[in-house]
Amino acid sequence: MKLVMMARNAGLYSHKRIVEAAESRGHEIDIVNHTHCYMDITSHRPALYHNGQKLPRYDAVIPRIGASVTYYGTAVLRQFEMMGVWPLNESVAIGRSRDKLRSMQILARDGIGLPVTAFSHDAKQTDALLDLVGGEPVIIKLIEGTQGIGVVLGDTRRSAKSVIEAFRGANVNILVQEFIKEAGSTDIRAFVVGGKVVASMMRTGAEGEFRSNLHRGGSAKTLKLTPEERSTAVRAAKAMGLNVCGVDMLRSNHGPVVMEVNSSPGLEGVEKATGVDVAGKIINLIESNAAKGNTRTKGK
Ligand code: ADP
Ligand code: GLU
Repeated sequence: MKLVMMARNAGLYSHKRIVEAAESRGHEIDIVNHTHCYMDITSHRPALYHNGQKLPRYDAVIPRIGASVTYYGTAVLRQFEMMGVWPLNESVAIGRSRDKLRSMQILARDGIGLPVTAFSHDAKQTDALLDLVGGEPVIIKLIEGTQGIGVVLGDTRRSAKSVIEAFRGANVNILVQEFIKEAGSTDIRAFVVGGKVVASMMRTGAEGEFRSNLHRGGSAKTLKLTPEERSTAVRAAKAMGLNVCGVDMLRSNHGPVVMEVNSSPGLEGVEKATGVDVAGKIINLIESNAAKGNTRTKGK
């Protein structure tokens, strides 16, 4: 097959592993930097250009679109979809996953366990918002945050309110969430490929840190999921319409709750912690689906 990966940085571990897995199975793979692509979006015969060259016909496209370029990246992916190229993850599904509120609403609609979460745009509603999630301690999260930056624990009403006011003053969107204390600074990442969990790990926060992000000093190790956790991850992927994703969950007293579904999950942490050839599983999925060309949306 002739594959293309959309990636801005070809040197990242995840990207190198995908190229390696594709080539070792005899496929050709090009890397295009989507921020250097351009296109005539009104053409009846959609095409894409990259650094002065018209891109050839590919069998499948592997999007690795960073959060900061979602808008333009998904437009390029949509163009590939309109050209009939099979996308590993569809542009519509990636768009959904990049909007935290929209994602949680989609997951809630399908009855997937979530931490009790509330959102408002109005600073005057702070007390009501805190009551809605069951009162302190609460987690306050920047909607656009990543790597655990902008996730704050509000222990008391006073501290929760001052954090919310500070965020509001900075004019950023936040959500307020019940604090799942019993998770004990540990979260679970289930890596889903083609409707199956292919690898899973737990991440535990550094001493004295409730956030388990590896970027915040957390450590990862392989973990066997319970059947309920496994089915929650698979259902979350399906609700979002993602073929490949990382589902982050917490172990709460009321079962697994989903924090986030990541549509461009990194491979390094999970492959190193579990020893699973996740890149190979991704290429296997492409091999069995690209030829059929089944996409749900083609960008619509
Ligand atoms: P980011 O997307 O920035 O990584 P997350 O929402 O994943 O932010 O939160 C970062 C970490 O904080 C999680 O990995 C988890 O350990 C902890 N955390 C987040 N939400 C909660 C919660 N509601 N209860 C307990 N811990 C939480
Ligand atoms: N094609 C629809 C859109 O782009 C899909 C909506 C959805 O994500 O469910 O709005």
